[in-house]
Amino acid sequence: MEKSLEMEKDSRHQIEVKASALGGLGVFATTDIPRGTRVIAESALLEINADRTAKGIVRAFERLSSPQQRCYLELHEFASDTFKRAVENEMGQKWQEIPELHRKVLAISAANAFGNVFFLGSRINHSCIPNIHFAYNPMLEKETFHAIRDIAAQEELTITYIIGGNHTRSQRQAKLDEWGFLCTCPVCEDTEQGRKKEKKRAQMLELDQKLALNIANESWGKSLRLAQNLAAIQKSEGLLTRELSTTYQDAARLCMMLGDTRMALLWTEKELEVDRYCVGEDYPDYKRGLQVVARLRAVVEDSEPVDESIIQWFSQQSSHDERCIIM
Ligand SMILES: [Zn+2]
Repeated sequence: MEKSLEMEKDSRHQIEVKASALGGLGVFATTDIPRGTRVIAESALLEINADRTAKGIVRAFERLSSPQQRCYLELHEFASDTFKRAVENEMGQKWQEIPELHRKVLAISAANAFGNVFFLGSRINHSCIPNIHFAYNPMLEKETFHAIRDIAAQEELTITYIIGGNHTRSQRQAKLDEWGFLCTCPVCEDTEQGRKKEKKRAQMLELDQKLALNIANESWGKSLRLAQNLAAIQKSEGLLTRELSTTYQDAARLCMMLGDTRMALLWTEKELEVDRYCVGEDYPDYKRGLQVVARLRAVVEDSEPVDESIIQWFSQQSSHDERCIIM
């Protein structure tokens, strides 16, 4: 598929970088941004995915042009003790003995990398209820950042730095410590509302674990009820990332296992709708998903047989294999 100008476009003219109440700088909407908007599509400023060692990160920095290096050095820096110890072990020298510029380069990568380091994307702060979803789009060879709900002018853009929106506050904060980020989002705040929201996270974690176990035990009917409950809470709690589409995908697959093609169609449509606003229609597999929906509709409405394309779609790696079971 060839890249078109349309695909390359983003909406960075609708955002600005300024001081954030969450600490340091953040990215803010300057106008209302509707759900599904591709706010940013950008190439990595520092590519470190291929070599994440300290030496590899410094080498990647040294390959940048002078203007790129200046941009990079403007980013926030933070190195946790764990990160420093790992660097010391690799380099065979104490953190303080490492040249100052290299320490800065490494501390910036530690504070900003999710995969790679991005000039704009890395300035977006974390929330446990993000309004932006980011994903690498191999068709564009760019990281994309989409609005997953309507964002009002002046609102801060947020992403989640961690996998596992279902995890409890202490589990989330332990991971966020790596970025030196203390989360005070509406789920983490120590208020009655925060505690209520945190209770919902605990429920989601329990449902998620039960779902994984029941799928492993091939209890399809029970698994379906668990997936439905999980999706309902994820949606009502505003967790609109691809974790929600993963749950929809589970529900659709379970309906197919139970022979309920009509419901499998409905859940697949929901899954694709979340994918559409999270990653965009040019994301690999999105079009294939649309074709599967059309085929499923033909099965439901015209009593056509279930064909190979449908079977293949539902036999792709099951998402529950990736679910994290914390016992
Ligand atoms: Zn939080």
